[in-house]
Amino acid sequence: MASLLSVLTVKNLLVLSLALNVSLIFKVLVLHDSQSYSFFIEHDGTKEEALLSTVPSSSSSSSSSSYSLLMDQDRVINLDHGDPTMYESYWQKMGEETTVVIPGWQFMSYFSDATKLCWFLEPEFANQIVRLHNVVGNAVTENRHIIVGTGSTQLYQAALYALSPDTDAEPISVVSAAPYYSSYPLITDCVKSGLYKWGGDARSFSKTGPYIELVTSPNNPDGFARRSVVNGSEGIIIHDLAYYWPQYTPISAAANYDLMLFTVSKSTGHAGMRIGWALVKDEDVARKMTKYIEINTIGVSKDSQLRAAKVLKVISDNSERMNAANSFFEFSYHVMAKRWKQLREAVHESGLFSVPDFPPRLCNFLNVVFEPQPAFAWVKCEGEIEDCESFFRGKKILTRSGTHFGVSPKYVRISMLDRDRNYDTFVERLSRIRS
Ligand code: PMP
Repeated sequence: MASLLSVLTVKNLLVLSLALNVSLIFKVLVLHDSQSYSFFIEHDGTKEEALLSTVPSSSSSSSSSSYSLLMDQDRVINLDHGDPTMYESYWQKMGEETTVVIPGWQFMSYFSDATKLCWFLEPEFANQIVRLHNVVGNAVTENRHIIVGTGSTQLYQAALYALSPDTDAEPISVVSAAPYYSSYPLITDCVKSGLYKWGGDARSFSKTGPYIELVTSPNNPDGFARRSVVNGSEGIIIHDLAYYWPQYTPISAAANYDLMLFTVSKSTGHAGMRIGWALVKDEDVARKMTKYIEINTIGVSKDSQLRAAKVLKVISDNSERMNAANSFFEFSYHVMAKRWKQLREAVHESGLFSVPDFPPRLCNFLNVVFEPQPAFAWVKCEGEIEDCESFFRGKKILTRSGTHFGVSPKYVRISMLDRDRNYDTFVERLSRIRS
């Protein structure tokens, strides 16, 4: 009897230990799947903590979907930032094609080509910029100087420095039609420059004399194509074309402006590389922008430029091969089309919100007629809801209020570029919101 008991105990212990191990493994898997961390978002000096779930893109169609659904009900979905993680799955699929290996002894110098106006611009990156614009047909590159920047954020500051009059006059006003990109006022007034000053909504700007107008087309946050709106004779225009790519809007013509800004953040999704470029007609302006970046950061990371060059090359190669299955813009165009369809259905089902409608146009690059499908949804809370951002926060959806874009709190901007699982949870939750 005693020996039977001891055998049973050993057996029981084995079963118990097996059960414990299985539950431990399960916990580890679950923790891994729903890994989350806290971080701070800052709006006008007020800090608020947000829970951001880091979910690998591959998990969107995983077998743990029933478990995910259960978890997703309470998960905070952060769609405040325009973080382009949606693109990860495409680049994962491309495997080693965009892998860059840099030996420790290479690219150690500050200089890329000391004989060139922009002496820190890597020649291969410059080549690939010209090539991609030619392939897509979205910008004229002939007779332009290319300036590379640490994101187009740095190029924006370089442009303000270069375009401001070199006199003792009061700071030049910088304006943009509301709703404008929320970072413009923050960046413009960050160091309280004596050269330039944020002047607010371009539509109500009536000062005489020189001014700088920012034209963002398609616009962040509302997605509309734009032209300058100020009716002054002494305006200098910066065209921010971060979203003038075929996944967001039909490419109807090659943009041909004096100063155009582009970024890999929104074109290829590589925001972490911190790479942007400016196409600049005027040599003096190009020189001054280069000077600003020299004083500011003594150039731009060569490692990032080489990575960016490789990514642009792969996009152009695949587009030129007419390889639709591997085409980056085919992929991203279809994801955006699907997401906008899902969004419009959810908005319709809920009945509490509205989103803008856009006229369809022919895209010369994709050779299809389509309605713009912007990187952000510009959502209006209809009816009684006055503070749309707080309303969404109550539903555990983090958005950015219209007040940051110079308009009413009845509007919010919602990122359309998050990973599948976050986006799907968002639209599913949106469709179920009732008054
Ligand atoms: N311009 C616009 C209109 C943008 O939306 C963004 C990114 N949110 C930027 C510039 C900044 O881009 P980057 O990451 O290259 O600094």
